[in-house]
Amino acid sequence: MIKKIQNLLPLVTKPIRYTGGEFNLFPLPIKKNTIKVCLVFPEIYEIGMSNYGLKILYSKLNSYKNTICERSYAPALDFGKKLEEHNLPLFSLENKLPLFKFDIIGFSLHSELNYPNVLYCLSLSKIPLRTEERIHGNYPLIIAGGPCCVNPLPMSPFIDAFVIGDGEEVILEIVDVYRNFKNDKKKLLENLANLEGVYVPLIHNRNKIIRKRYVKELKEEDFPFPPLVPICNIVHDHLTIEISRGCARGCYFCQAGFTNRPLRIRPIEEIKKLAFRAIKATGYEEISLLSFSAGDYPHLPQLLSSLNELLHPYLVAISLPSLRGEDFDEELINQLKFIKRTGITFAPETVSYRLKKVINKEIANEKIIKAVELLIKHNWPGIKFYFMIGLPQEKEEDVKEIGYFLNFLGKIAQRREIRVSISPLIPKPHTPFQFYQFEEKEILQEKIKIIKREVKSKNVKVKYENFAQAEIQAVLARGDEKLAWAIENAYRQQAIFQDWTEHFKYNIWVESFNKNQIDYLSYLKEKKVDEALPWDFIDIGIPKNLLIQNYQKALSLKEEKPNNYLSLTNKTNPNFQPLSFFKPAAPFSHYYKRFRVKFKVGENFRFASHLDLVRAIYRAIRRSGLPVIYSTGFSPRYLVAFGPPLPVGVISESEYLDIFLKIDYNGNLIKDLGDFMPKDLIILDFKEIKNDAPTLGKSIKFLKYEILLDEPQLKKIKLTNIYYARLENQILEVLLPFEPGVKLFPTLSKITNLNEEEVKLFSIKRIEHYLIKNDKLMTPLEDD
Ligand code: SF4
Repeated sequence: MIKKIQNLLPLVTKPIRYTGGEFNLFPLPIKKNTIKVCLVFPEIYEIGMSNYGLKILYSKLNSYKNTICERSYAPALDFGKKLEEHNLPLFSLENKLPLFKFDIIGFSLHSELNYPNVLYCLSLSKIPLRTEERIHGNYPLIIAGGPCCVNPLPMSPFIDAFVIGDGEEVILEIVDVYRNFKNDKKKLLENLANLEGVYVPLIHNRNKIIRKRYVKELKEEDFPFPPLVPICNIVHDHLTIEISRGCARGCYFCQAGFTNRPLRIRPIEEIKKLAFRAIKATGYEEISLLSFSAGDYPHLPQLLSSLNELLHPYLVAISLPSLRGEDFDEELINQLKFIKRTGITFAPETVSYRLKKVINKEIANEKIIKAVELLIKHNWPGIKFYFMIGLPQEKEEDVKEIGYFLNFLGKIAQRREIRVSISPLIPKPHTPFQFYQFEEKEILQEKIKIIKREVKSKNVKVKYENFAQAEIQAVLARGDEKLAWAIENAYRQQAIFQDWTEHFKYNIWVESFNKNQIDYLSYLKEKKVDEALPWDFIDIGIPKNLLIQNYQKALSLKEEKPNNYLSLTNKTNPNFQPLSFFKPAAPFSHYYKRFRVKFKVGENFRFASHLDLVRAIYRAIRRSGLPVIYSTGFSPRYLVAFGPPLPVGVISESEYLDIFLKIDYNGNLIKDLGDFMPKDLIILDFKEIKNDAPTLGKSIKFLKYEILLDEPQLKKIKLTNIYYARLENQILEVLLPFEPGVKLFPTLSKITNLNEEEVKLFSIKRIEHYLIKNDKLMTPLEDD
């Protein structure tokens, strides 16, 4: 199976998504009686690998008695197709085990639009889609967790058991129940149904109130350690430390805010300890402090300053994914820009003061403006805003006000770009707005036209959500069991990856609803407060009465307060000037040593891009603690220069880099750096070179490759000796000039008279780099 998968990888986009091999990965051996769990994130690797919840469960399960946990992600369409064509099942990344061989498969339901992807993964795994079809036969137990499970009904025919709420404790209880009843599916489901926070559709059939599970505190031992470091770039490619979970603000539209209560805070000292250990173990260059509302973390400036003090020597940046815009002052900015200016996002949702009250999120516009002024003064890149439309009590004037406000921000920002995302309210279960309607698409379009008309500032870039996509998401979020037929139909009609606008298929959804006589528009309508709602049997710890009271309050608010932010123009501060950019310092030419390092790239990095390789080596340098010289300026970087990029799909016996170290360094880089390199990046040799020696990029003139041909390939090729190419004992040796326009695969295709698809299946190794000195070819380490 592994060989067959390897043969497919060169033919698909980003094969590195399917190879695993992350740093800090130690696949455990599978012994008899070990319970095998596979966690599946039904999205592509780059998105799924960014999910923090999955990392916690992965780490907990792998340290639990007689249990192993592996991972899988939804294959992109091209690889999914290849798997089907070759009749290969979806597999786990660690041991490349088919998913049907696991005992338990756990899906993360993080977005309603991803429901068809769960069926896509089950089908690729050769596992029947519906629970009923799996009752008899030796199939894995299919469980699901994640934010969407607070309304499990639309997916209930496909999932054996749902976890409602935090998963880190209950997942181990599920494993124990499985261990005891694995040979009797009926008893297994009955016993799972007795666990608190677990909904088993076949047993409960929504006749029992299911109380959500939550952990009382964020425990140090639950922090996923050592964190896995992916080889390729992922969406959130940084170390994540959860500084708090839950939010007590109670914005009326926010499902996460209501379903993740209570607020739990991780102490500063523990965060510092985890940050230090995890940076040493990963080499990450950025820490993201995860929380629902970072500004609510008590003593945030102290936390940032102590983290900065601790991590400054390692050039580690700190980012906050969720700021409300209040409490934004000079001190906070100074802490955030200490190492690197990471993007800042504000989510005021609306501008009108009345609507701010209606949604119970009252962030004063004046405070946001002050925050933006400060960011601009500090030359901050990447300021982003989120707004919502389709809110209760929203009038044309409120929508226009978003436009006025954006113009105002545009003016303050001068030429700096302000990015804005506008999405419609999706009234979600378990929020006060669960009773409200999803506004009609046509009206939403009209509102967007108004905003477009009003926004005149060229530096304000507004992005609008696809309303058809939001409409289907709203139907699924507010749905019941009947929708399962439509979800299955949509999946069978290839409506997968529906969170991606380019893959979204509105017509297929509408057809799927109609085919199953589902009046989908009825799910979008306003609900009466005394109406029974499909998700009422899920108890998230907030009484329905409270939600009703909040909703009625929102609808009854009449107060009109004029916005006075327009008085806050820069004119009130005639001396307002952005600070000038710092200039990067000149290189410390007399105070460093320059070393040339030769290293080998093995199978694990075969499909890594040049940038992936560079990132992995930077992280190894950070882990090693080598006294490396770094640049100054906005984003300090280690001074390391790499040789010609290695083509994707090729391994290498000899790659080179130059590294600049402090003048007093006299160590052995094979050990000092080599011991911290990821598997299959091996330091082979090094030597000190002159500080003013030509760069690798300028001096390399030729690259030598070796290709091992199998019998069928050997028979097919017709060698054309365009460049230096020699064939001996099934090994084709090729010497290519390193110059623009000479690309490996097209050139090999010309030399062998095979097409590029066939050439990509060659087993290719880069053997050496050459420069020319005194008319002789020389390797970079022979140069002096
Ligand atoms: S929108 Fe933010 S501040 Fe409001 S409840 Fe949700 S997480 Fe909390």
